[in-house]
Amino acid sequence: MQMGNIVEILEKDRFSKDEIVKLLQVEGDDRSLLFSKAQEMKLLKVGRKVYFRGLIEFSNVCSKDCYYCGIRNSNTNVHRFCLSDEEILNAAQFAHQQNYGSVVLQSGETTSTAFTARIENLIHEIKKQSNNQLGITLSLGEQTEETYQRWFNAGAHRYLLRIESSNEELYRKIHPADHSFQSRLNCLKTLQKIGFQTGTGVMVGLPFQTLEILADDLLFMQQINVDMVGMGPYIEHTETPLYQFRSELWPIEKRFDMTLKMIAILRLMMKDINIAAATALQAIDPMGREKAVKIGANIIMPNITPGTYRNDYALYQNKPCVDEEPEQCAGCLDARIALADGDIGYGEWGDSKHFLERKNKPL
Ligand code: SF4
Repeated sequence: MQMGNIVEILEKDRFSKDEIVKLLQVEGDDRSLLFSKAQEMKLLKVGRKVYFRGLIEFSNVCSKDCYYCGIRNSNTNVHRFCLSDEEILNAAQFAHQQNYGSVVLQSGETTSTAFTARIENLIHEIKKQSNNQLGITLSLGEQTEETYQRWFNAGAHRYLLRIESSNEELYRKIHPADHSFQSRLNCLKTLQKIGFQTGTGVMVGLPFQTLEILADDLLFMQQINVDMVGMGPYIEHTETPLYQFRSELWPIEKRFDMTLKMIAILRLMMKDINIAAATALQAIDPMGREKAVKIGANIIMPNITPGTYRNDYALYQNKPCVDEEPEQCAGCLDARIALADGDIGYGEWGDSKHFLERKNKPL
């Protein structure tokens, strides 16, 4: 590919699908150029700060059966766990003491009136015990509008719901027939309507995925106007149906590199959103998250789930840091962010600048 070509594309304010596909293929000097442009854009629009969201993976009980996921309902080899309210509140207290600014409550998908009420109560308790200082992000899957509204009213203000692939055909290949693509889209719209800072994301390097599909994923994020994105490389899990297609996968290094390119291109397309450096990057390269921070990401979600439960929340295999306790992660992260030329936004919510702009505009 000619360098001039890429220089021209990178000077544009909006990219076409073909241009994104070209950017996803850059190598050598062109690749360095893409990354340095994304780095510049990040510093210009969201600055050097990296915000922490203490991740509490409080339950691996899930009613769904996504074909790529290690904790899918049909996997009988999983030891199922659910943290008590006290354990969750202690983890949130730890995040507050560490001055993390926010927590993420994440679990497998459960829909019941008892679950809705439990989360609502936990949101109130976390707010109370932190004097309203901790921001709360939820990542609890597809729920009814009423449930989302109750959790928003209780004080949660961000919600992550990854589409995993915006290509409906691919979505159908990686999910059972009763997992509706349209329902997921509707949930994203509902979350935006209610007023959540709304996040989505995709896996990079899935079987059957093409560069064109990945380009469409980025355009999809732009089109639905999300505030936050988390994208990670697909890492196969032996106890899942998708594992049978492992011979068709890109090498793991390519999936890693493609994820970095997706982050860099997205930073150029959606300049002021929050982009998370996914833990799955660290599973492939010990410095994976830091590399993502350098070229566009500005959010890190340190895992503060008590160590004893971490092994059981394996959506993919070789998940990093599963044997560590939260206290060990804290010191480790400070040094890592400094290496990625970032400053940690301690005690700050670090809300999406894009959201602050968007909320005053009609959908
Ligand atoms: S990806 Fe999420 S919803 Fe799907 S099976 Fe895994 S935990 Fe459940």
